[in-house]
Amino acid sequence: MAEQTYQTDIIVLKKTKLKETDLIIEALSDTGSLVKFVAKGARKPGSSFSSRLELGAYANALCVHGKNLDICKEARLVNAHALLRNDVDRSLSMQCILEILSKTALSKLDNPKVFAMSVSVLDALDDCEKSALGFLVSAFYLKLFAFLGIKPALDSCASCGHDIDKSNDESPHAHVAFSYENGGVLCRVCAANADALLIDANLISWMNWLLNSTFADICAHLPEETIASSVLGICKRWVSVHIQTNLKSLDFLIGDKYR
Ligand SMILES: [Zn+2]
Repeated sequence: MAEQTYQTDIIVLKKTKLKETDLIIEALSDTGSLVKFVAKGARKPGSSFSSRLELGAYANALCVHGKNLDICKEARLVNAHALLRNDVDRSLSMQCILEILSKTALSKLDNPKVFAMSVSVLDALDDCEKSALGFLVSAFYLKLFAFLGIKPALDSCASCGHDIDKSNDESPHAHVAFSYENGGVLCRVCAANADALLIDANLISWMNWLLNSTFADICAHLPEETIASSVLGICKRWVSVHIQTNLKSLDFLIGDKYR
């Protein structure tokens, strides 16, 4: 029987050793679903395979359906994103993207917009100013939350839907009630009955801006650097509440660069 082959664009998310010389590659396919395959001989010295299947690489893979795992026969690089692996700050930022994708992408569950957005953010991380890294990662997270249907409410109360009026606060810095468990910003009435904390209203506006701006626009109009740290902190806790996972890579980015 002829081997059943298929071709797919991928972003490499994870590599695991298998036997002496093989690798199991976990990748995001161009449909946005998670694919796993074996790259035979990829760990042999001098194998050209491994350089085309580095973490964060955007490649075109020719695979064959296997009994348990599919086998990758050939891989052609579309964009190696080499800078992302050769620079510590860029590499940490890339890890934040790859880790959340490996935890949220599911096999046979298509979400093609996630693939396109992932390619865009890796391209941007590859050649942006270093001060943009934290903003690109936080914007990616917020956009991904939207694609996954877990976007925090930022304009209107997550419980009753009323518009949040940030202008009525008499304190010098307006604050809004925000609840991770209840899905985002809350009006005063709903906040009284919820486990909410107060967040600077400006921060909520910046989150809205990051969510709705292109990566190129973000790089061109960078806010004050401390904002990235705060948004990343919110994203980390949002992931722990809504995806029930602790993102280790995000700790490095917040801890090393932005705390
Ligand atoms: Zn409300």
